[in-house]
Amino acid sequence: MRLLELQSVSSFYGNVQALRQVSLHVDEGEVVTLLGANGAGKSTTLRTISGLVSPAEGTILLGGEPIQRLSPEAIVRRGIAHVPEGRRIFPGLTVTENIQLGASNRGRLSKAELARDVEEMFTIFPDLKRLSRALGWSLSGGQQQMLAVARGLMARPRLLLLDEPSLGLAPIIVQQLFGVIRDIRARGMTILLVEQNANMALSVADRGYVLETGRLITEGRPQELLNNEEVRAAYLGGG
Ligand code: ATP
Repeated sequence: MRLLELQSVSSFYGNVQALRQVSLHVDEGEVVTLLGANGAGKSTTLRTISGLVSPAEGTILLGGEPIQRLSPEAIVRRGIAHVPEGRRIFPGLTVTENIQLGASNRGRLSKAELARDVEEMFTIFPDLKRLSRALGWSLSGGQQQMLAVARGLMARPRLLLLDEPSLGLAPIIVQQLFGVIRDIRARGMTILLVEQNANMALSVADRGYVLETGRLITEGRPQELLNNEEVRAAYLGGG
């Protein structure tokens, strides 16, 4: 089933056009990656889907229903969780408190429900269990990124938007993080993943799109994109 569909979506920051008639889709259960250089419009695509940027034109359908005029809060309630670039966890709250906050879109949960869901996150992220009482600021970059993803999952989204989760992390931590993304995917989560690390992203994705200066230039299966000379030259380290 088609979960998300963007039809000719254009977005601006003031006079600057950041997206030019972007059309893409994500089917239920898919991991789709959005690749492109710095400033190509990847973050803006996610911000437009989650309602942080209002599109100037085009339609965004979630499960067939238009959402492009809804507030960010209403869009979270419809089932889209956005894990932004830069993690943005709460430094003065514990790991458990940060995770619990992810459920704030779900109305009043009983203590038992909340505790059960936090425990579920600890099975996906065992390191966070060990650190459950640690304060956000004391975590490493990789741990903060795991925490940000756990918080996003606590919303029980239909669609998870991940913005550059690997940014600034050491290669071994990036490997761990993508292990977690594979795990979440195996649990049936639908994911739209923005990455500059194209090789890693294509290793977990079912399909990918490539953005260049606000426009989609190509799309395909990982193998097709990996074999595409233009894509290789621009995003996969040449050759
Ligand atoms: P990055 O990896 O650097 O985040 P990106 O592909 O996600 O790149 P965007 O952040 O979506 O790109 O930016 C797309 C374009 O919009 C760029 O030209 C950028 O300079 C511009 N832009 C982004 N945010 C703003 C803003 N708040 N105000 C004005 N222009 C912006």
